[in-house]
Amino acid sequence: MSEEPGRITRRFLTPPMRDVHALLATRMKALGMTVHVDAVGNLRGLWQPAKGASRRILLGSHVDTVPDAGAFDGVLGVTLALEWVALAQEIDFPLAIEVIAFSEEEGVRFGMPFLGSRAVAGRFDASLLAIRDAEGITVEEAIRAFGLDSARIEEATADADACAFVEVHIEQGPVLEAEGLSVAAVTAIVGQTRLSLIFTGHANHAGTTPMHLRRDALAAAAEWIVAVETLAKNTDGLVATVGKIEAAPNAGNVVAGSATVGLDLRHAQDSTRTAAVNALLERAEAIAERRGLTLTCRRQMDQPAVPMEERLTAFLAEAMEAAGFAARRMTSGAGHDAMVMAARMPTAMLFLRSPGGVSHHPDEAAREEDVEASLHVARRFLERLATEAH
Ligand SMILES: [Zn+2]
Repeated sequence: MSEEPGRITRRFLTPPMRDVHALLATRMKALGMTVHVDAVGNLRGLWQPAKGASRRILLGSHVDTVPDAGAFDGVLGVTLALEWVALAQEIDFPLAIEVIAFSEEEGVRFGMPFLGSRAVAGRFDASLLAIRDAEGITVEEAIRAFGLDSARIEEATADADACAFVEVHIEQGPVLEAEGLSVAAVTAIVGQTRLSLIFTGHANHAGTTPMHLRRDALAAAAEWIVAVETLAKNTDGLVATVGKIEAAPNAGNVVAGSATVGLDLRHAQDSTRTAAVNALLERAEAIAERRGLTLTCRRQMDQPAVPMEERLTAFLAEAMEAAGFAARRMTSGAGHDAMVMAARMPTAMLFLRSPGGVSHHPDEAAREEDVEASLHVARRFLERLATEAH
């Protein structure tokens, strides 16, 4: 189910999304669920226990992908959510379960992520409808072309009886694999700062300018990049990356007159993240001053960390132990629908090991034993929720 033959690319409200809906809806109906597609294209299936229920839990993940994606990012969480419904039926679960296949998480088509979960969380700003994709089609037009009505987006907001959201997702990193573990409970989705720094010195001849008379912007940036790496290595849980650099004039025989570097820095504690950013900016100022350069900083993103709900996360960790697994807790370095949903209701997240730590790539994988482990955890977790609810 792809826009492109031979590889998986499935963007928001593109034709293959209809096939995904059809397949998932068949499975949902087989589980006795009622199915509908909301106004932003989220596929939603509701299972009600025979006695009825005054509250529901929400489960799900996204079904859109990045270009040339793997087969598990998002989709695994949706199919597993349906297995959770099957488990709930086995244990006489007292709450209703709504499974949501979010229509948009990756932000590929419109450069704006989480369109699906924003709507469910009641945080879909009407201005989003005017954003255009590469073909000039607006979000509103895409919604209409899919046979939906953008005027009804507010109706997509989770009902007041929704008391929890749980997302199962592949880790997309190497931690569980390195530790030989199948699953982990996510404690928080890390906060993120993105900024770009411009070191400005003076471009000059690489042969005639003696070393002590240079104002080399690229050498200054290099010194700072090493400082970024050193600080991150020495700060628990901090990841900091300079993944982008532009030197001008970018010629082999010219001392660089300016260097622009992009920093991506993430941590689960906002105070640690802020302190790290401040320390690195001070360091950049000091490097620039010592070398006779000027420094400009442009802050592009300051996104706070989103903690998962403690009680639900503890239930997950207890369920992991009860099922015979280590109660590993970890932060998520990537954003997820759970991050958006957490603003609306108590939210928890379960990670499955990513073999090779690979994601957003066709080699992305998931192991059967880890899927099985996650379902053992799911059963214990649902049993625990059932005792709480009775
Ligand atoms: Zn994902």
